[in-house]
Amino acid sequence: MNTVYDVIIIGGGIAGASLAYHLVCQGVKTLLFDRRDEGLATHAGAGIVSPFTASNAIGFGNDSLFNFAVEALEYYPILMKQLDKQSDSSIFANNGLIVVAAESDDFQKFEELKSCIYQRYLARSLSTTNEVRSLSSDEAQQMFPALAKTKGAIYVSRAAQVDGSLITQALYTAAEQHNLTVKPVGVEQLIIQNHVVKGVVANGDTFLAQNVAIAGGAWSIEFEKQLGLKIPITPLRGQIIHLNVTNIDTTNKPIISTVGDRYMMSWPDNRVVVGASRESVGFDVHTTVEGVHEVLGEALRVTPKLKDASLREIRVGLRPISQDQLPILGTVPNIDNLYLATGLGNAGLSAGPYIGKVVAETILNKHSQTDITAFNVQRFN
Ligand SMILES: Cc1cc2nc3c(=O)[nH]c(=O)nc-3n(C[C@H](O)[C@H](O)[C@H](O)COP(=O)(O)OP(=O)(O)OC[C@H]3O[C@@H](n4cnc5c(N)ncnc54)[C@H](O)[C@@H]3O)c2cc1C
Repeated sequence: MNTVYDVIIIGGGIAGASLAYHLVCQGVKTLLFDRRDEGLATHAGAGIVSPFTASNAIGFGNDSLFNFAVEALEYYPILMKQLDKQSDSSIFANNGLIVVAAESDDFQKFEELKSCIYQRYLARSLSTTNEVRSLSSDEAQQMFPALAKTKGAIYVSRAAQVDGSLITQALYTAAEQHNLTVKPVGVEQLIIQNHVVKGVVANGDTFLAQNVAIAGGAWSIEFEKQLGLKIPITPLRGQIIHLNVTNIDTTNKPIISTVGDRYMMSWPDNRVVVGASRESVGFDVHTTVEGVHEVLGEALRVTPKLKDASLREIRVGLRPISQDQLPILGTVPNIDNLYLATGLGNAGLSAGPYIGKVVAETILNKHSQTDITAFNVQRFN
């Protein structure tokens, strides 16, 4: 007889992995399917976790998303402790972030972003005294030696960085210790009877479950037709480049962010990650000369001392961007026991671990400190 799982999860990027972890830790019998499509965003993502400096242009003008992202940032150290990884700075590090105006042309946008940072601190009733400070060009260069002279720089301490692949791997390792079952195959279809989801068909086989959650990143849209429901997500390609540097110390350095949402992020293994392009080209996951040129051009404009770095790796990922740039989370209208944890967009590595926690609470009908009604798919339907 077929096993009936408590929950089946479709997709195993950071959203699916975190959801699985939070379920199995509650003793929930969980099966996760992950096709590992080329271009899965979690492997490519830079991992900036910085809601106070995130641009309105990528959805952070929305209060619900901003507040959710702040809670997600606060949850990270708790999760790292649970995973027993709190001292592993190759996974998660809290070194702050510097927003820079590299040239006079950047200055107006810089001033706008600066005032937005102060407003966001105010909105959360937080003091900026020890957390936000303007830096002279020399101070900024001391903190990040590869920087060019700056026309403006502001340091924000409440910002962190995470390695998406490593945190996801840590979630899997912990979840498998709690008996998570993982199958590296694709789910073709949901099994739905009388408006109740009963399981899935994967690789031609039937798998039964009390609940099913779709966490398929940019590919979640594949289920729209069967559900007769709009899940408006489009892929936004990002090309991101990992550099090896030998002449610059890369330990405990703040992230550098430009006013145009480009960034340079250091990791302790002599690595600086520079990114990323934003391209609406469907599911095409090629690297391109234009994308690489754009990313490296901006890196050299802002951090010219990276000119001697060598190329280590180019990664390409598809950000799952919803129509209004907000995530799509929680229950589904007209179909019982089906849940969504998708549309993580530009900030999925920041929010993904917390999304897993909150959607797990929704599935288990537990009280959650965070209301995710604003993110329900109902808003499109
Ligand atoms: C270049 C780049 C830079 C980024 N920088 C940042 C950043 O600095 N900070 C930040 O917070 N976020 C960042 N992001 C965004 C972040 O990476 C994503 O929002 C996040 O990783 C999305 O995770 P996910 O689990 O929803 O999707 P994904 O990681 O794409 O995973 C989806 C998984 O589901 C699987 N799947 C889909 N359909 C099926 C199916 N039918 N059956 C089985 N499996 C299926 C896929 O194969 C895939 O493995 C960046 C992204 C990119 C590309």
